[in-house]
Amino acid sequence: MKVLITGGAGFIGSHLAERLLKDGHEVFVFDDLSTGDLDNVHHLEGNPKFHMKVGSVLDRDALEPLFAEADLVYHLAAAVGVNYVIENPLQSLTTNIRGTEIVLELANRKKTRVLIASTSEVAGKKNGKVMFSEDDDRLLGPTTVTRWNYSTSKAVDEMLGLAYWREKKLPVVIVRFFNVIGPRQSPNYGMVVPRFIKQALLGHPITVYNDGEQKRCFTDIEDAVDGLLALGEHPEAPGEIFNLGGDADTNEISIKSLAGKIKNLTESDSPVEYVPYEKAFAKGSYEDLNYRVPDLTKINSFTGYEPSVSLDMTLRKIIEYYES
Ligand code: UDP
Repeated sequence: MKVLITGGAGFIGSHLAERLLKDGHEVFVFDDLSTGDLDNVHHLEGNPKFHMKVGSVLDRDALEPLFAEADLVYHLAAAVGVNYVIENPLQSLTTNIRGTEIVLELANRKKTRVLIASTSEVAGKKNGKVMFSEDDDRLLGPTTVTRWNYSTSKAVDEMLGLAYWREKKLPVVIVRFFNVIGPRQSPNYGMVVPRFIKQALLGHPITVYNDGEQKRCFTDIEDAVDGLLALGEHPEAPGEIFNLGGDADTNEISIKSLAGKIKNLTESDSPVEYVPYEKAFAKGSYEDLNYRVPDLTKINSFTGYEPSVSLDMTLRKIIEYYES
């Protein structure tokens, strides 16, 4: 197939491109390099089936010829990372909402299947420790809290995608990621794992926000790519939303324990520093999610997806990547 990946020079997109090429597909990457990086795809450049084009998803004219060719589209181009979204609120909303509208309009011309990258953050905060299911109610803080721009923009993307499916029979599949981690993920936009690893390797304080009791369930990038590939071809996936995450038994952890684990694995002397939210973020811009763990029943029943990489294995891979 000819596969277009918007945001293909980013962390997830570059790993997806690599696997699609390995599987014999022709890959077209389109990326504005805002948080993506040409270094992420540099090693693919000699492959005649790899094509790179720099541009914004807001530039319909630049995208159009790629949609004329593509058999399948992974729409990963988006403003990502809590810090990035808080620092660029307007651009985040525009890229995530208008960008997805343009992608859907263009895909609709030939009814090309589109996988839209969404987020577990769509559901927002949880009352109690209950695994996130695709049809949960949403619970967000007020619109004045910039952090929720991301969740809100992705909820609009999901609704746009579902409307295209229902009204126009465009085959749209929605994927909600849960804290995907791996080599090439940048520490510059807020993501906790690359930040902690960089801090530990440099001997800087490891900055745990609040009391560190908040929990996440991390997903290895190779597991995430397995899920994306399976959903890319599953005949029953269009019109559906899927959680894509790691195994709660091996990958659920509090942020405080994560800091300790990374300190041990890197044999770092870094102190663990507890930072109040008010110190880490501009006043009123941030609220945390205390708990975020996926229920994977749906993706498993459709595709047989089962994550297989433990948090320890992924952390070791990332540490090696940063060390080298
Ligand atoms: N976090 C932290 N220190 C950091 C960056 C993040 O303690 O330097 C915390 C953050 O408050 C959140 C968790 O780590 O509870 C995951 O944050 P991230 O931004 O990676 O992902 P998300 O909040 O979107 O799950």
